[in-house]
Amino acid sequence: MSSEVILIDYDSALLAPEGWEAEYLAELRIVWRTFQCRSAEEVLAAAKDAEVVVIQTTVPLLTGAVLAQLPNCRCAVRAGAGYDSIDYVAATELGIMVSYTPTYCTGVVADHAMALLLAANRHIARLDAAVRQGRFARALAAPTRSLQGATLGIIGLGRIGSAVAQRMQGWNPTLLVYDPYITQEYADGFHARLVSLEELLQSADMISVHCPLTPETFHLLDWDQFKLMKPGMVLVNTARGPIIHEQALVQAIQDYIVRSAGLDVFEKEPLPANSPLYQLDRITLTPHISATSPEARHNLYVLVCELARDVINGKVPPFLVNPEVLTHRR
Ligand code: NAD
Repeated sequence: MSSEVILIDYDSALLAPEGWEAEYLAELRIVWRTFQCRSAEEVLAAAKDAEVVVIQTTVPLLTGAVLAQLPNCRCAVRAGAGYDSIDYVAATELGIMVSYTPTYCTGVVADHAMALLLAANRHIARLDAAVRQGRFARALAAPTRSLQGATLGIIGLGRIGSAVAQRMQGWNPTLLVYDPYITQEYADGFHARLVSLEELLQSADMISVHCPLTPETFHLLDWDQFKLMKPGMVLVNTARGPIIHEQALVQAIQDYIVRSAGLDVFEKEPLPANSPLYQLDRITLTPHISATSPEARHNLYVLVCELARDVINGKVPPFLVNPEVLTHRR
């Protein structure tokens, strides 16, 4: 009898399956089926026989109540860089492994962070808007500064933060890192100095945020932190919106503490129509798009298929989120 792996939803414009997955898995006697579930009822109908359930949305559709009604499910997989849409506590209690695909987009998110940093520093968005409106408004390029020799701060030197640090090397910067979970020895690999958050905020001309959203990092950058920053600094966030207190950021931009910002993520997504961020032309906004590229899409489905194959073959998949499940996994 064949095993079944299902994808319960996907972004059809940007991150749809590539088309080879069913054939690849069929050779391993695994059936691959895809859906566009929007509710718990639709998930239950689609996933009732599946051994591996893959979810792409960040909407928490794989709740404890849903997982409890999926008796064949051995592994829930988030096709993405976080696993917030799976209740992994409930999954662990039920003996269901939880995994995800954190490496699929590392390079392109780092590229996007660099793009936002450069765009914010050079005010590209507002210059472009002005030229399109028929204004050759060169004065809008100021104030700016050279990246060469600047002091750059990275919050979170994990996969993406490290890829950003690598990309920054060409500017010969003073590189400062705040990350309580890495060693100076690791930071040495990027010619970076591990410092406290306070020192980073006080010294950096530009800061890029790359830590995960956790209870510890929720509003990590609040008004108290903005007050410490070097006036005229540039701030980039491609990690998660709630790491930055958005209202405090608006104030900091109005007060010229933050000269310019580049944001891919927001406290509320999509960005609400009444957000004050729209009124500030010293912010470059992108719609949570950092992870998107054809290569990332391909990597995503390669990882998903490899994870599914491992689970069906009785192996522990890579990127297991809940190793404590191994004592009683299904
Ligand atoms: P990672 O786990 O490899 O790295 C995260 C780093 O943050 C680690 O080094 C960790 O020690 C550090 N960290 C943890 N808590 C911290 C704290 N309190 N203060 C400072 N540093 C802390 O993750 P990654 O692959 O580099 O991804 C980073 C984040 O980027 C993800 O958690 C995700 O939220 C976000 N992301 C966004 C997109 C997007 O589309 N915008 C795509 C992928 C990932």
